[in-house]
Amino acid sequence: LTSRLPAVGTTIFTTMSALAQQHGAVNLGQGFPDFDGDPRLMQAVKDALDAGHNQYPPMAGVPALREAIAAKIAALHGRAYDPGLEITVTAGATQAILTAILALVHPGDEVIVLDPCYDSYEPSILLAGARAVHVALTPGRFRPDFAAIAAAITPRTRAILINTPHNPTGTVWTEAEMQQLAALLAPTDILVLADEVYEHMVYDGATHQSIARHPALAERGVLISSFGKTYHVTGWKVGFVAAPAALMAEFRKVHQFNVFTVNTPMQHALAAFMTDAAPYLELPAFYQGKRDRFRAGLAGTGLALLPCEGTYFQCVSYAGLAPEIAALPEVAFCEWLTREVGVAAIPLSAFYPDGRDQQFARLCFAKRDETLERALERLRQHL
Ligand code: PMP
Ligand code: GLN
Repeated sequence: LTSRLPAVGTTIFTTMSALAQQHGAVNLGQGFPDFDGDPRLMQAVKDALDAGHNQYPPMAGVPALREAIAAKIAALHGRAYDPGLEITVTAGATQAILTAILALVHPGDEVIVLDPCYDSYEPSILLAGARAVHVALTPGRFRPDFAAIAAAITPRTRAILINTPHNPTGTVWTEAEMQQLAALLAPTDILVLADEVYEHMVYDGATHQSIARHPALAERGVLISSFGKTYHVTGWKVGFVAAPAALMAEFRKVHQFNVFTVNTPMQHALAAFMTDAAPYLELPAFYQGKRDRFRAGLAGTGLALLPCEGTYFQCVSYAGLAPEIAALPEVAFCEWLTREVGVAAIPLSAFYPDGRDQQFARLCFAKRDETLERALERLRQHL
């Protein structure tokens, strides 16, 4: 048997969650909240079930949900996507990314990805028969390096995959950076695949730079997001894609034979709940509070903090710890931290194709305050 993905094994998220469970560690590894979504959203699911919304919805998604998504994007970013032709509900962002790539990228094409990057990107590109061209974000600051991106463009470049707010580094692109990307792509026909799953987790008064705010990018762009992050329901696996009609027509050709459609009751519940803007408008303050308390607690350890402008991830450097610990490769450090300190983390090396070690680890702060406090106590005691 010849594997389609010979280099792929079990994801680091699954591995670290299993190790955390085995050692009774506080799991700050895999990104998911340890608290539930809004009770009104849970009630809306029960209402949808009772109302008999239990058969196939339309292929592109429940119309009321597509309308709510379009209305939200228009209100926040000023671009009017047509819910009939330009919005599709997906089984989370992971399916949306794979489907977009299978629909729009041809065998032999190149797709630029910016490292460190989310682990599903390259396998999705490989399954399309294309090649991922890796361009590093600037070392230490993790900002887009436009000279390096420009140098990576070839006649085969079909798309660039961007992610802001950025997993794992928490970087948030600025308006000027989006404009620079638009200027760089203007003379080309390169598509933009924009992973915006952390769109509502942006701190210190910054504005999420959706491609929907930038017409030159939106016109060649596929906007991808996920309700799992925004509403604390990562297990629901419901997300969406917004794109101009011509791109969306191709997306839907693949989507209808990939999942055909996404579960009906959750879509009705999300449509009803989304009419209230407060839950997502309050999200930055909610997570910024957690970020600030977590960072203040980490300041009492030997870990050095990297900036966190967005997402629910805080990256740390362990270069300042005792020499025998600081010398560990990132995977070994995260295993040691899980086993010996009782706190699970994710090595940043897992987000690089060459697995490079920079003495960085990612900690997820989408946790109840008492969970974060328990983790901080352990970290302060040992580090
Ligand atoms: N992209 C990024 C950057 C993510 O962090 C995640 C979730 N870990 C996803 C995509 C996948 O989202 P979903 O769970 O909706 O498939
Ligand atoms: N996106 C989550 C993270 O970065 C993990 C999702 C998964 O387990 N695949 O932690």
